[in-house]
Amino acid sequence: MIKYNLKCNNNHEFESWFSESKEFEKLKNKKLLECIFCGSNKIQKNIMSPNVVNVDRETLNLDSKGHKDFNEIKKELKKIKKFVENNFKYVGNKFSQEVKDIHYNNKKEKNIYGTTTLKERQELKEEGIELTTIPWIDEEN
Ligand SMILES: [Zn+2]
Repeated sequence: MIKYNLKCNNNHEFESWFSESKEFEKLKNKKLLECIFCGSNKIQKNIMSPNVVNVDRETLNLDSKGHKDFNEIKKELKKIKKFVENNFKYVGNKFSQEVKDIHYNNKKEKNIYGTTTLKERQELKEEGIELTTIPWIDEEN
């Protein structure tokens, strides 16, 4: 899943979730995207909003035998991974620090991704910073 900050032609801002990066374009082209405030279908991705992604290597403990949709999920996750790799800057374990920089100092770097520890995530949450966490898969398995 991917979260976008969206904006309509009347400057209403809202967030929406998409199963993959292409889904936004698909829905937009079919004029199925509507502003939740005024119903306008002139929607754009709001690139001015901070957009950070926290990747989590621990979340994906899926059992390949017991999970019949495992390959489907894996395919989706690979697409998301590719999208993030192409559009976000990797900051590794400095993620927590970078997010705070963006949050408090209006730092220019908008699209970043990286890893956090559980402790760092809790700290950020206490400071009111919500993260988008996605499971991260390695190419080999
Ligand atoms: Zn609107």
